[in-house]
Amino acid sequence: MRRLFISDLHLETPTSPQFLRFAECLAAESRRVDEIYVLGDLVEMWIGDDDDNALAIALTSTLQLACKQCRIYLMHGNRDFLFGKQFANQTGVTIIDELHEPEAGLLLSHGDQLCTDDSDYQTLRAQLRGQKWQSEFLAKPLSERRAFGNALRQRSRHENANKAEAIMDANPYAIEQLMTTHKTQTLIHGHTHRPGLDTRSSGQQRIVLGAWEVCGWLCRQQDGVFELACFSLAHRYGT
Ligand code: MN
Repeated sequence: MRRLFISDLHLETPTSPQFLRFAECLAAESRRVDEIYVLGDLVEMWIGDDDDNALAIALTSTLQLACKQCRIYLMHGNRDFLFGKQFANQTGVTIIDELHEPEAGLLLSHGDQLCTDDSDYQTLRAQLRGQKWQSEFLAKPLSERRAFGNALRQRSRHENANKAEAIMDANPYAIEQLMTTHKTQTLIHGHTHRPGLDTRSSGQQRIVLGAWEVCGWLCRQQDGVFELACFSLAHRYGT
């Protein structure tokens, strides 16, 4: 089984290096692997599947093409938890739960629920992920939703600038508890933008995907072997 895991691309426009590399990466990798998992924050902001901005249009056609080659799974992040059925139907991706086990021992998460020290964020998360809030929000006009999304981004930028670094990282106890509950051998998540592969003496692994900022990050799985890699966003993918 060959799988590829990515997260935190935070795509904003179809002309950015991030988007171009993403499209090239999907085109190349969808021919090589069996499954591709996007573990949240594929885009910087998603205000509903009815949005028809340039990014939504480009993203839809890019995913449509790749979904003809291999299965693509999409997990919600804290920026794009409003990806819904319409987007899944249009593109061919499968939306997966916030905790997903493709096989026994392998657990996938966006990672934001592990940041338990950030209680303000967890309170907001509980509100925004609620069914009631979401259906009320999606009933508003696009312009209103966009304004709310922009305000939320600004608020998060402002608040995060004033938070201690440690508060925004995954809490070690929360990681331990999650891995014990799910009998996890390998945990893969993103969100914290602190890429790394940590192997314990027990053989258990935690792999943190990186954000696509200066370089793009991905994790490859070939059967039981996991590898974290990065590549330059300045050059065409794979060259
Ligand atoms: Mn995130």
